[in-house]
Amino acid sequence: MGTKYNFACPGCGYTAEWVSGGRDFGEMAVVRTMICEGCKAVVDVLIGRYGQDGPTGDPDYDKSLNLCPKCEGTQLYPWPSEHPCPKCDNKMLKDETFGEMLWD
Ligand SMILES: [Zn+2]
Ligand SMILES: [Zn+2]
Repeated sequence: MGTKYNFACPGCGYTAEWVSGGRDFGEMAVVRTMICEGCKAVVDVLIGRYGQDGPTGDPDYDKSLNLCPKCEGTQLYPWPSEHPCPKCDNKMLKDETFGEMLWD
């Protein structure tokens, strides 16, 4: 079971909705929170399946790995633990008012 959160940037007001903040996995999907260079967004990217990172050998599944879910771009890099805003570099803060969402 994974957990997702909202993060908000105090500098520019950008919000990242329902991202894990790091590597996380549910019953099937393994995700990692990445910054997409294409759309300057913090997104959860599918990186594997059943707790394993990397290609699964299932072509249908593998073609959806390591793609930005918003723009399908591949210019992705892991979100550093300081959680910098992709737009203005301020430190983004977990927005507790939304609580957390459990997913699987
Ligand atoms: Zn910002
Ligand atoms: Zn993107």
